[in-house]
Amino acid sequence: MLQLCKECASRFEKDVFAIGECSICGGKVARFGELAERGALLVGGDWGSFSVSTTIPKGVLAAEEKAFDYSPGESIKTFANRYFSERVAAISERKYDPSGGDGRIMFDFRSFTARREAEPLFFFGRYKKLKEGLSQTKWDCGKCFGRGCERCAGEGRMYRSVEEIIGGPFVKRVGGAFCMHASGREDVDVVNTAGRPFVLEISNPEARKVDLEGARGEISLGGEVEVSDLKRVGRGAVELVADSHFPKTYRAWIEVAGGAGEGDLERIAGFSHMLKQQTPNRVVHRRADKIRERRAEVVRAEIADGMVVADILADAGTYIKELVSGDGGRTEPSFSSLLGKGCICKKLEVVEIEDDFLRLVLG
Ligand SMILES: [Zn+2]
Ligand SMILES: [Zn+2]
Repeated sequence: MLQLCKECASRFEKDVFAIGECSICGGKVARFGELAERGALLVGGDWGSFSVSTTIPKGVLAAEEKAFDYSPGESIKTFANRYFSERVAAISERKYDPSGGDGRIMFDFRSFTARREAEPLFFFGRYKKLKEGLSQTKWDCGKCFGRGCERCAGEGRMYRSVEEIIGGPFVKRVGGAFCMHASGREDVDVVNTAGRPFVLEISNPEARKVDLEGARGEISLGGEVEVSDLKRVGRGAVELVADSHFPKTYRAWIEVAGGAGEGDLERIAGFSHMLKQQTPNRVVHRRADKIRERRAEVVRAEIADGMVVADILADAGTYIKELVSGDGGRTEPSFSSLLGKGCICKKLEVVEIEDDFLRLVLG
């Protein structure tokens, strides 16, 4: 006759077990109340809901299988999750949400301990990069790989990043670690006044309520980055934003060999072509070398300071610097091939991103 504790015996439909030292749990189920209390203390102060999980050792599950030979019943795992969710909800006065909630309380049967894992936080927004010389995400120094060396002046990185300027003020408020997912990126030397959609992910936050207005103000203090349209979103926004590609309008400052004349301006202003663009020389070491077709059209152009300043509406993924220079024939047609003389993009700015689709979905 199998011997079980009375707590375990009560999970089985038939009254066929002797009550005594438990061959399944060794007496631990009788002390689940203590463990639930410890778990309830871990529920975050500003959590509205929580979920639970319980790890049960294989040996315990195997011992339970033997008892199932004598009677049907509720498994210890199902029992534990139900018990802990009910007790933690009662003690913490938070809602149990089996689909996740604001975080999870994880119970370990063997060590008889509880720990917590907060659900990540996600914030949608649009950022403007007002100064050159910032990378979008962390860019480790290629010589020391982040440890700090002479080349990077001990910083471990070559550029400050938009990601850290935005993420820092959030982590200061809620703890955890940040990671930015954006819809495309601009080069280090390119300014963006259009507002590029991004989702900031905060993993393992200690708190969940963020004063968004305060964070926004702090981000803009240095005059390098500004954010707008900040709002809390769900995990699904990451894929939506990171996988989206939008047509953009760029403003390019173009130096024409020998100086830009009215004829050059006229020809550039009329530019509207489907480009054949081979992966640029400057990125071919890290991207597949292939030819892509992209549409580009100049929507406005003028001469200023001896340069042609052109607003170019282009498909997502168009390389604008190469559209201007021709990249030694790798982009065709180009402004250089159009004019029959060398053109160089001296400065580039993203002035509009047509992300109406996101506005519909995320606001
Ligand atoms: Zn037991
Ligand atoms: Zn270094």
